[in-house]
Amino acid sequence: MRLILLGAPGAGKGTVAKMLTNLDGSVQISTGDILRGEVRAGTDLGRQAQAYMDAGDLVPDELILSMMEKRLQEPDARQGFLLDGFPRTIPQAEALERLLEKLGIALDAAVNIDVPREVILDRLTTRRTCSNPDCQEIYNVKTKPPKQEGVCDKCGSEVIQRADETEEAIKARLDTYEEKTAPLVGFYEREGKLLSCPTSSSEEVVSAIRRQLGI
Ligand code: AMP
Repeated sequence: MRLILLGAPGAGKGTVAKMLTNLDGSVQISTGDILRGEVRAGTDLGRQAQAYMDAGDLVPDELILSMMEKRLQEPDARQGFLLDGFPRTIPQAEALERLLEKLGIALDAAVNIDVPREVILDRLTTRRTCSNPDCQEIYNVKTKPPKQEGVCDKCGSEVIQRADETEEAIKARLDTYEEKTAPLVGFYEREGKLLSCPTSSSEEVVSAIRRQLGI
């Protein structure tokens, strides 16, 4: 399947993407994960992206677009992809259309996971992530704490709060989302591609997608 997952930070795009990859081998492509990898590896792209990311701002479109143009042409994306965190602006969406047309690929749908702002704020301030780049298991201090505080159940590495998941950075990310990314809902609606999922349950989002695609 070839889907765009739209939704504010913390709406559950990553969780839904992981559940869908188990269905048909489509790959999750998370621009946030790729960028965090570049920052850790100390690449040019990582150095350019870091300040924007820590402030909760978007990384400039040109950097994201050249990164995604490469990523979408890697062999594992042929089977299908779940775009998690991309596109995030109208120019990114327009560039993606041109790229997919060039590659002869059609999108199945853009799924909007629409979760109330209070739920998101609560989810993100209580979210913790395994610091091991190869694991990145997600925890929540209220609903899914690690068995031993601060230690990942899966790999034993330290469990941390991401620098961009403090309350201040989260509010900035949500404001950026409203201003720059929310207009994509109208964009894909006009294209006849929008699947709207007004629920905070990832299982319900996956069921709606399966119904829509008949899988
Ligand atoms: P995420 O993990 O998707 O919330 O992304 C973390 C951060 O990476 C965002 O707050 C942005 O700074 C940056 N980022 C991720 N995807 C994009 C994108 N498509 N365009 C611009 N910046 C992005």
